Amino acid sequence: MQMPVIEEHLEEIVERCVQAIETQGFPDAESWKRAVPGRAIVGCFPVYSPVEVFHAAGMLPVGLCGGGNRMEIAHADSRFQSFVCSIVKSTLEQGMTGVLADFDALVFHSICDPARNLASVYRRNFPGKKIEYIHFPQNFEAPEATVYLVREYARVAESMSELTGRSVRAEDLQASIDTYDAVRRLVRQLYAVRSDTPHLLSTRELYSLVRYGYLVPPEEHLEVLTRALAALSERQGRPRDRVRAILVGSFCEQPPIDLIGAIEDAGCYLVDDDFLIGRRWFVGDVSRRSSDPYLALAQSYMDASVSTPVKHDLRVSKSAALVERARRHSADAVIVLCAKFCEPALFEYPLYRRALQDAGIPHIFLEFEEKMWMFDRTRTEIETFVESLLFA
Ligand code: SF4
Repeated sequence: MQMPVIEEHLEEIVERCVQAIETQGFPDAESWKRAVPGRAIVGCFPVYSPVEVFHAAGMLPVGLCGGGNRMEIAHADSRFQSFVCSIVKSTLEQGMTGVLADFDALVFHSICDPARNLASVYRRNFPGKKIEYIHFPQNFEAPEATVYLVREYARVAESMSELTGRSVRAEDLQASIDTYDAVRRLVRQLYAVRSDTPHLLSTRELYSLVRYGYLVPPEEHLEVLTRALAALSERQGRPRDRVRAILVGSFCEQPPIDLIGAIEDAGCYLVDDDFLIGRRWFVGDVSRRSSDPYLALAQSYMDASVSTPVKHDLRVSKSAALVERARRHSADAVIVLCAKFCEPALFEYPLYRRALQDAGIPHIFLEFEEKMWMFDRTRTEIETFVESLLFA
């Protein structure tokens, strides 16, 4: 019997994603794990993590995004200095309050000192949990760096296999790469739709659709994105008089969703951003780079990944890349929205500022933290900025 076609509105799909994101804890991941013996969950701290390797080992890679604005920090404050970003503290708080009890492993990466310290604090405080730390290459010009990264991925694959009893064969990794490539292709399509027709897809919606993939298996995310694109193709609307802006600086800790909405409501079409950039890391399909899946992943990291402040590729000027992005998306302005105390973002900002000034692209600098509840001030600042551009 042929199943009836169930038509959904994009609003319904997005609302389900928002509900999953705002649910405290990780019920979807925990149900997935309990459904079949031998499954394991790995929590991936931002920014980029080789999720394909974990997926191929039989794990569900869950993206950690901190505790949001509903988590009270009661224990983690005593383990970190006061001048540390929110995500580091709230991620530790999640561990100390049992939110991550079902997680079998956590992975951290060489993005900054606070993330490195968090990995050490976890290792010391949670001896029963597997804590992995991936050192990404710092020298992109050395040919040895790719070889090193292949070995690093193989090391982590072996380590994770100890948890699931399933070693990572080349064909498993290839299948996982194909799945995540398919997800990334759909995300790229959604990003292109938003850049071309931002009145049809808000950033709040796009963000929710992408972030849902941090919580569920990629196969399920693929289905949701496919339905979202189908629903989006039915949408109609007229563009409004707004400023086209690209937003950078939120590549690790994520601002509250309502803050993203407040920026849009203040008169901006956000036509590009670096939210959740770790799951959009590659600029093309990984599988095309090599028939050896480990090499394909490593080469993609080295030669076909995005420019961000946590990747130290001296072959590419990050400021020049930002100006190029602004031009490619026909942006009128840039919003630099950084997590409070985020060292990589704050170190990059003076270079961004100079490049944007030289290129004649207006920008505004704002900070956020997870605990924000009120967005009136940010909204007013953006409104003033937008008015200065629209009525100049
Ligand atoms: S928000 Fe910035 S400082 Fe904090 S862990 Fe992320 S990259 Fe590091």
